[in-house]
Amino acid sequence: MTERPNAPQLSGRVHVIGAGPVGLLLTALLQSTDGFSVRLYEKRRQYSRARMVQLASYLVADSLDSYRVDHIDGENIDAVFEPSEIDGGIAFRQSIPSDLSALLHRWSAGFCPLNAIESALSDLIDERGSANVERVVGVVEATDAMAMLEPGDIMIDSTGSRSLLRDYLLPTNGVAETDANTSNIHLEYAIVVTFLYSQAYDCNESCKYYKNAENPRYKFIPAVGRVYYDGAVSHVTGIVNITAEDYAAMPAKFDGEWLRANFPHVAKSMDRFIDKIKDETHGEIMGDLEIVRIPLNLYRARNVTSRHWLGAGSDNPFSHSAVFLVGDSAIGSPYFQSISLGFECAMFLSGLIGRRDLPLRDLFEMYELYTYKQWLRVYMRSKMIKHNKDLFERIDDPLALLEKLHIY
Ligand SMILES: Cc1cc2nc3c(=O)[nH]c(=O)nc-3n(C[C@H](O)[C@H](O)[C@H](O)COP(=O)(O)OP(=O)(O)OC[C@H]3O[C@@H](n4cnc5c(N)ncnc54)[C@H](O)[C@@H]3O)c2cc1C
Repeated sequence: MTERPNAPQLSGRVHVIGAGPVGLLLTALLQSTDGFSVRLYEKRRQYSRARMVQLASYLVADSLDSYRVDHIDGENIDAVFEPSEIDGGIAFRQSIPSDLSALLHRWSAGFCPLNAIESALSDLIDERGSANVERVVGVVEATDAMAMLEPGDIMIDSTGSRSLLRDYLLPTNGVAETDANTSNIHLEYAIVVTFLYSQAYDCNESCKYYKNAENPRYKFIPAVGRVYYDGAVSHVTGIVNITAEDYAAMPAKFDGEWLRANFPHVAKSMDRFIDKIKDETHGEIMGDLEIVRIPLNLYRARNVTSRHWLGAGSDNPFSHSAVFLVGDSAIGSPYFQSISLGFECAMFLSGLIGRRDLPLRDLFEMYELYTYKQWLRVYMRSKMIKHNKDLFERIDDPLALLEKLHIY
């Protein structure tokens, strides 16, 4: 595809806004790519989010088979991607510098606190000691972001689910319309409960059923594959589906005591489940429960690049530069898969940006298509999980269960 005459020539100046896991990974990748200088902006002074997160093993896959090892995800990958696209991703992994690759291998082997990932990436960037990354601390507003763009600059918005620039990627007469560039599917409201347990607890699919036998509502559903025993302590995470009214009446974060005092029905279901774990394994909860209430949404930005500004001939800085969304800024998914998805898109984007001969319009379209495919992949997986969860919630009520079954 030929470039329009007024398409900007990209310089090597990159602004990455948001140093969460995805912005940090992208910065670390560009840091080791010739010809780029990165300014990384972050409003937080400390990485304090200590929740345990899991990264997918496909991030370090070295073959098509190991990329598609998850049985639900594997078929979706076959449906959406060409084998050559997966091969390209695997080849990119092999080009990742060894310091970064070692971290990815470590994280995708088990669980890790989110702030340990952030701190390790942040330290790696600093300790490499290269002059091509500058860190800037402070809140960046959308107007600041636009003002700092010079023709040919690249701007990457990795500011998370409340993306700074998502709404601005659609050309308007000055005022960005909230969520005009977002497609959102609300799946459910939930509380995510995490706790430490003093014994090994090996959760499996049938334990979800038997330990919930006396819980007709508010079933506590531990995330199988996310229960992690570190040799001394089990880290357990589970989800309880709640109503919109429950969600509205809860604070963003709370503990077990608050739940018992304010939502005794929800707490009883969870406590019954935990008591059964204790009966089996004779351990104790260590510390209190940590609970957050979250909407489980599947969303995507309809445009993850400033493609509509390209050649618009306006004075808007976006028409003379290249803007990309990555991470939760671009796509959000429930059920503990978003960091991996964000990392996958960050790897692809950094590979594309590194191809200096690529016309900008092609670069935009390739990144748009790739993120759309990743979205389809995660959409299918999330819908499957949600459907399975819906069936599980009704498992003891055959008529309600049948209503949820769509056969033919
Ligand atoms: C309870 C819970 C459990 C989870 N478990 C998992 C899991 O196991 N696995 C998984 O893959 N995902 C998990 N997730 C999701 C995961 O935490 C997010 O997908 C991930 O943090 C997104 O990374 P990000 O870098 O895109 O955005 P964020 O982590 O949101 O980072 C954005 C960064 O941008 C900064 N920022 C924002 N606005 C500005 C601004 N205007 N100026 C300057 N800086 C700014 C923020 O301070 C932040 O550091 C979980 C989420 C929750 C709520």
